[in-house]
Amino acid sequence: MTDASTITMDIGEDYPELRDAVRKLCEGFPGEYWRDLDAKREYPQDFVNAMTESGFLAALIPEQYGGAGLPLRAAGVILESIHENGCNAGACHAQMYTMGTVLRHGSDAQKEKYLPDIATGKLRLQAFGVSEPTTGTDTTQLKTRAVPDGNGYLVNGQKIWTSRALQSDLMLLLARTTPADQVEKKTHGISVFLVDLRDAVGNGLEIRPIDTMVNHSTNELFFDNLHIPADSLIGEEGKGFRYILDGMNAERTLVASEGLGDAKYFIRRAVDYANERVVFGAPIGKNQGIQFPIAKAHSETEAADLMIRKAAALFDAGLPCGPEANMAKLMAADAGWNAAEACFQTFGGFAFAREYDIERKWREVRLLKTAPISPNLILAYIAQHVLGLPRSY
Ligand SMILES: Cc1cc2nc3c(=O)[nH]c(=O)nc-3n(C[C@H](O)[C@H](O)[C@H](O)COP(=O)(O)OP(=O)(O)OC[C@H]3O[C@@H](n4cnc5c(N)ncnc54)[C@H](O)[C@@H]3O)c2cc1C
Repeated sequence: MTDASTITMDIGEDYPELRDAVRKLCEGFPGEYWRDLDAKREYPQDFVNAMTESGFLAALIPEQYGGAGLPLRAAGVILESIHENGCNAGACHAQMYTMGTVLRHGSDAQKEKYLPDIATGKLRLQAFGVSEPTTGTDTTQLKTRAVPDGNGYLVNGQKIWTSRALQSDLMLLLARTTPADQVEKKTHGISVFLVDLRDAVGNGLEIRPIDTMVNHSTNELFFDNLHIPADSLIGEEGKGFRYILDGMNAERTLVASEGLGDAKYFIRRAVDYANERVVFGAPIGKNQGIQFPIAKAHSETEAADLMIRKAAALFDAGLPCGPEANMAKLMAADAGWNAAEACFQTFGGFAFAREYDIERKWREVRLLKTAPISPNLILAYIAQHVLGLPRSY
């Protein structure tokens, strides 16, 4: 049997063809493209179409359903490369990991029905409805209810921050099917549904966009007696919380890869500018006050890269990787943010000018320190599950 001591991992430029192909695709979507959409708060449809047509978004879908059947590490390289090349995968990355819940826990009929169309892009599974306004990170306390009703379920409640719901055909929804006071453990009685948004909107579901500091197409969702068919249920009723947890290590590792790509982007931009910009008769990069924050960010970036590779190597070997996936996310979000800060400072006043793209990327990378999980909750997990300290929440 495989154990962690036998796992090896690549520490060089792995998947060079993928990196190259993504870089070429990204060349078609330069800073002006993202800047313009950011100003108009519009969804990067052309970029998402290009990503879909090139097959990148189907990287993790098995070949039997029309995907590329690549390992998690390859998907991470795709996302890292998108961000390293100045683009943003936030508009479409969810497809990579939400699909995993259908793949692991869906019935054969559900997989046959949805995965091939998701692989070609005919169906978009970009929305993931977990967060709620009154429960915050304490997911087991979610209030949205799905109550058996004839040949299906009746959904009532509210979600918040459901990104891409307006650009998605399908949404993975977490809702309580058994009231919290009737279950043995608070994680029980929560179920996962694959909701067809095309049928739902206007028939018990209302979607309201939220104005945010980043162009992230995120929304509030209001469910008022939305009827969904019985075959929307994924896996067994009441086991949804565990299904979602099963997908979290993949999600954390993939999102960490985006932070890594952002960190590399900022470091490259900072180094180029520090070498070019001459003040007091010398390039500003000659000053240690400019060099050190960039060098420190680079060191943090390299460390995050190693942790991401370790998490992915364990995941791809089918081994537990909760600590590594969480640490990778923590380290990469910090590396991305610290690189952004170093770059912002290096650019002086020009960092504020939109045409340089630094302020936009700086706003964008900040999100990784909040979503999909905040540093505090990761640290609480490490303290409890890795170090054996008492549970703090
Ligand atoms: C742009 C954007 C897009 C998003 N997209 C999605 C999406 O598609 N789907 C979805 O379901 N969600 C989405 N989210 C939600 C995101 O995952 C949550 O915002 C995040 O998990 C934090 O939850 P919260 O905002 O409710 O914060 P809260 O849970 O209210 O926490 C607030 C603060 O308190 C801290 N805190 C809470 N409890 C503890 C504790 N026990 N110990 C120490 N500190 C604690 C947190 O770390 C945080 O800093 C998105 C959020 C944003 C901003």
